[in-house]
Amino acid sequence: MATPSSSDGSVSRRMSLRKKVNYRSYDEGLIDDDLFDKSLDSGLKKKGKSKDIQKETNTEAMIAFSLGFPMNALLEHEIRSGVVSELGGKEQNDYVVVRNHILALWRGNVRRWLTKGQIRETVTKEFEHLINSAYDYLLYNGHINFGVLPSFTSQLPEATEGTVVVIGAGLAGLAAARQLLSFGYKVVVLEGKNRPGGRVYTQKIGNDDKFAALDLGGSVITGIHANPLAVLARQLSIPLHKVRDNCPLFKPNGEPVDKQIDSKVEIVFNKLLDKVMELRKIMGGFASDTSLGSVLETLKNLYAVAQTTDEKQMFDWHLANLEYANAGCLSNLSAAYWDQDDPYEMGGDHCFLAGGNWRLIKAMCEGVPIFYEKTVNAIRYGNEGVEIIAGDQVFQADFTLCTVPLGVLKKKAINFEPELPARKLESIERMGFGLLNKIAMVFPHVFWGEDLDTFGCLNENSHDRGEFFLFYGYHTVSGGAGLIALVAGEAAQAFETTGPIVLLHRVLTTLKGTSHLLWLFIKLYGCFLLHIFRPPCFRYYLIGLHDLLFYCTIMWLFILFFLRLMVYFFPLNF
Ligand SMILES: Cc1cc2nc3c(=O)[nH]c(=O)nc-3n(C[C@H](O)[C@H](O)[C@H](O)COP(=O)(O)OP(=O)(O)OC[C@H]3O[C@@H](n4cnc5c(N)ncnc54)[C@H](O)[C@@H]3O)c2cc1C
Repeated sequence: MATPSSSDGSVSRRMSLRKKVNYRSYDEGLIDDDLFDKSLDSGLKKKGKSKDIQKETNTEAMIAFSLGFPMNALLEHEIRSGVVSELGGKEQNDYVVVRNHILALWRGNVRRWLTKGQIRETVTKEFEHLINSAYDYLLYNGHINFGVLPSFTSQLPEATEGTVVVIGAGLAGLAAARQLLSFGYKVVVLEGKNRPGGRVYTQKIGNDDKFAALDLGGSVITGIHANPLAVLARQLSIPLHKVRDNCPLFKPNGEPVDKQIDSKVEIVFNKLLDKVMELRKIMGGFASDTSLGSVLETLKNLYAVAQTTDEKQMFDWHLANLEYANAGCLSNLSAAYWDQDDPYEMGGDHCFLAGGNWRLIKAMCEGVPIFYEKTVNAIRYGNEGVEIIAGDQVFQADFTLCTVPLGVLKKKAINFEPELPARKLESIERMGFGLLNKIAMVFPHVFWGEDLDTFGCLNENSHDRGEFFLFYGYHTVSGGAGLIALVAGEAAQAFETTGPIVLLHRVLTTLKGTSHLLWLFIKLYGCFLLHIFRPPCFRYYLIGLHDLLFYCTIMWLFILFFLRLMVYFFPLNF
């Protein structure tokens, strides 16, 4: 596990929506022949010297890897889709090379519609069946030839496959609608609000003189290699700004955090997370009924780490960052599954999009029929198709695709007739979603430093740890001195019921500590512009819901026993 050591060099995680990448992070430096399985056959490429072809094959494998494919194996989904007739043999090996080649060809130029003909120019004829299999798989599953270019829309087939009503015009609904159109379905989208984008919403805040286009919802493109949004940005020639690593931290009194303490606590924090992972293996099924928060707290006490006030506040800051990454209180996160998304982490830099993500939404809406202010309240489905009821209107189709947020499903705001299958209902119940709140502000000048995209603030009390713990500066992409304060964890819940004036006062008090210049601006300009956004956010795996109290009592006896053993046998080594 990477445990970076200082404020300056350590912060890729700080601005991440995730805690850390410990599975498959893309690293250019990994492009090294020794890493590749020598069995990767390159005899199926047409041109070039064999050494060059081998190198190209290796590079293509690396590109496929960065897109979430194993370099020299099949995805589970490819296996289930039957892309090869026999698993594990030469055919599979050849398929993987062809698949990687197609992915690399398209990623080399995402503005063109890649055809089988173009692939045939570089792959020998005897592998025609593999071209068909890999191309069809990648196309059908949206790995190639997707996007928002008009030339792509002109490739749309006639709508002969049937009709689909997509519910929700957020990123998921719009992407699905476009994909279904490309498969030859007739599609309409029903959206409850009067605008598309859902939890992605860019607002221009300010006046004619001073304004900034700020993302009040989803803002960071997390990992540009595999993230399809980065492809759209390339297609639209929208510049991306890499969120820079430097993320200084400030104490509640405004002083910078001591670098040694910062580094020490970060190492300890990561080591405790490692211990959580070891512990949950020992705990087996019990781990799903235990919260990450309680395990971390217990380990912290047992190992007697983060004892001084400064260290404690630093430790709390890391807890807040983790709550931000999961958009949930640690007390609600299951110790077993809190990092279940890590294997799907996307490699590459985290970026802001110039002008805000609204530009992607706008492009995704092109050519998609959307009916606004149609809040769906019932779905009747059966062998004859579906009826979707929105107020007094009924829409009929062969299929419906529901992309409403988890909270809407939990609230049972849509009545399914017949009821959804038990496994779906159970999943809806098991998953949780949390809060992430933002305060968006526009200042007359960038008082926090032109070279900073992020900075963090420590809080005095544990229960406030998530309040304005992180700030994102958007001056590089928004057209103005835009700053966004994040509120995570318990503080995000308290935020929901606190008045805007109080919040404004608090955020300014926090900022005042980091820069006295801010007060000068406020004095000079009287006030500045602000927007408070309180959306529901991500989903996560809840701790066990059944017989919680009973389990807790029994479990803690076990856990405490194991923890004692662990502390005794496995001390934290630095
Ligand atoms: C504050 C905040 C910050 C975030 N930051 C990031 C980030 O930096 N990076 C990142 O990758 N992600 C981020 N996210 C998450 C990201 O925004 C979401 O994962 C993504 O936008 C979800 O898209 P979706 O289409 O699944 O859902 P939504 O965007 O919620 O779309 C669902 C749509 O369904 C509509 N709808 C709901 N009920 C009905 C109904 N009954 N009938 C008709 N329509 C209905 C809604 O109005 C909405 O338009 C953030 C989210 C929030 C809230």
